[in-house]
Amino acid sequence: MNAKGIILRSMEQIRLKTCVDFKPREAEPNYLLIIEDEGCYSYVGNQRWGNQSLSIGLGCGHIAIIEHEFLHALGFWHEQSRYDRDDHVTIVWENIEEGKEHNFEKRSASQTSTLGTPYDYTSVMHYGKDDFTNGNGSTIITKQPEYQNVIGQRLDMSFNDVLKLNTLYNCNGGFFMHYSTATGKEGDRATMESVRKTPRRQFQCLQFFYYYSGGDQDLLNIWIREYDDDDNPKELPDSWAR
Ligand SMILES: [Zn+2]
Repeated sequence: MNAKGIILRSMEQIRLKTCVDFKPREAEPNYLLIIEDEGCYSYVGNQRWGNQSLSIGLGCGHIAIIEHEFLHALGFWHEQSRYDRDDHVTIVWENIEEGKEHNFEKRSASQTSTLGTPYDYTSVMHYGKDDFTNGNGSTIITKQPEYQNVIGQRLDMSFNDVLKLNTLYNCNGGFFMHYSTATGKEGDRATMESVRKTPRRQFQCLQFFYYYSGGDQDLLNIWIREYDDDDNPKELPDSWAR
């Protein structure tokens, strides 16, 4: 039960930050079958063979670990498998446990894409420095030493993990709005209105960053306008929520 809750929360994170959605399987020919096998693993991408298993075994019940497995299923290899990884990390082959070397192979440029993102030491898809070690030392050394203890983080998806998901799945990216108060006077207010959004789910998440460089008294209000039908906004002011 506990693992199930964490799995649902991991899906929700992906849902909130990207346009990737999950639904219980009805009659789809290809689907993910989440099982409790030994360890945490997933195939990379949709194998299109029916029930594709993804294992959340003992010790895998952490949001970022489950996000990592879902990212595999959604088409992502490990970060250190990038074809340009040798510019960023050194693989110490003699420290790798015998028979586990295949985990450190690169994926060619014809097989994979970096989606235009820089190499990401903070990716949730990056191995840790000591993963698959035979006990003789680290298996990965970062070329920028300050990242040696950063690789392998399993706290959350990184900025670029989310960016890559949004790029691969053609989610419409964000918008940037700017309003200058250079010509205004004290007490003035500015209103910016976004394009209309049609929700696909009962619960929606609005995520944004903001910055204002005016006075201490500046205030940002976020309003949501709901529509009864395509043309008519609901009566004001009840339908406006702060
Ligand atoms: Zn993995």
